[in-house]
Amino acid sequence: MNDHVLVINAGSSSLKYSLVDASTGKAPAAGLIERIGESQGRHIHRGPGGEAEHTASIPTHEDALRAAIDAFGTYGPSLAEVEIGAIGHRVVHGGSRFAAPTLVDDEVIAAVTDLVPLAPLHNPANLEGIRVARRLFPQLPQVAVFDTAFHQTLPPPAYTYAVPLSWREEHGVRRYGFHGTSHAFVSQEAARLLGRDATNVNVIVLHLGNGCSASAVEAGRSVETSMGLTPLEGLVMGTRSGDIDPAVPAYLSRKLGLTAEEIEHDLNSASGLKGLAGENDFRELARLRANGDEGAGLAFDVYCHRIRKYVGAYYAVLGTVDAVVFTAGVGEHSPEVRAASLRGLERLGIVLDNDRNVARSTEARRISTDDSEVSVFVVPTNEEWQIAREALGLVRSRHGD
Ligand code: AMP
Repeated sequence: MNDHVLVINAGSSSLKYSLVDASTGKAPAAGLIERIGESQGRHIHRGPGGEAEHTASIPTHEDALRAAIDAFGTYGPSLAEVEIGAIGHRVVHGGSRFAAPTLVDDEVIAAVTDLVPLAPLHNPANLEGIRVARRLFPQLPQVAVFDTAFHQTLPPPAYTYAVPLSWREEHGVRRYGFHGTSHAFVSQEAARLLGRDATNVNVIVLHLGNGCSASAVEAGRSVETSMGLTPLEGLVMGTRSGDIDPAVPAYLSRKLGLTAEEIEHDLNSASGLKGLAGENDFRELARLRANGDEGAGLAFDVYCHRIRKYVGAYYAVLGTVDAVVFTAGVGEHSPEVRAASLRGLERLGIVLDNDRNVARSTEARRISTDDSEVSVFVVPTNEEWQIAREALGLVRSRHGD
């Protein structure tokens, strides 16, 4: 039985790939190709024999995928020997159309193309990855796994913005939510750690990476999430503002004569931790804060305050909470953020165990006290594994195996 999936995440000038065993999550090989289309590209391939790095001109995404195939041939494992069962593509925006992983055909490509206005930076690159993989692996089923799909279970009161009907009906203005593969994976892991079925637990997931989002997952279904029409809304992120008064752009446009594009750029790329402290990498921010940098101290406080506010809000949305789960770069590695974000929530039944919180580990683990009513977990996210499972699950169900 062939359980391997080649997972592809194509960005505008990058291509990440990972060969994943969908049944175990083990990845015998993975790679990253950067600076596609620039004079000097970079390719890192990690396989059974170690890691290899090359620099060379990689003009197109097709050249990038060919380089990946060559690297499998040179450094292993041989793609012919592992026999891939499917190719799984990460696609950022599936709009209201895609609530589940989807087998790619021309009609799906047309539908994802129609969604480009909602994700102008991401969907075109994801589509390019799909087109190239279809050309180079015509015999394999290609499956699109959407970042938005897990949140398609949001009920209308959670996804509806209180804006004019024509915006909502004609222009798709609503909450979609993102990081869905991560929220799905992590909430299932929380259920596993609790020893219960996912349909039997309520979880608040805090995905804190470069991008940050929270979700409320009730009985295995996402019922609230912090990102919206785009990944700009919600928590404070590395370079994104998260929530602000929606009147701010118009105010700045009148006051400074900034265009919509300039304001959008600043909210996406010059805000968040970077806007507050001049630094978007959390490790560097932590170092500055430890050295007494005031901006870094404020940035940390704003970041954690926003998380705590969402935990409270999602607690109210769910009514009963079985677990709060931290994941992604900051969530998995910063005990300071975890402690500050949950401080003072003991009356809600959330009690951290300090020793467990600061203990280093790469495993999924409990960091709450044994008698904390709500369990708090750290779960390393694994979006590639989730994409592989979903892609292979779909292909198998089609074949009836
Ligand atoms: P991600 O998007 O999940 O890769 O997360 C990236 C973020 O995680 C960056 O802000 C990193 O600085 C942060 N991060 C990674 N490792 C650590 C660490 N050991 N301690 C604190 N933050 C970390």
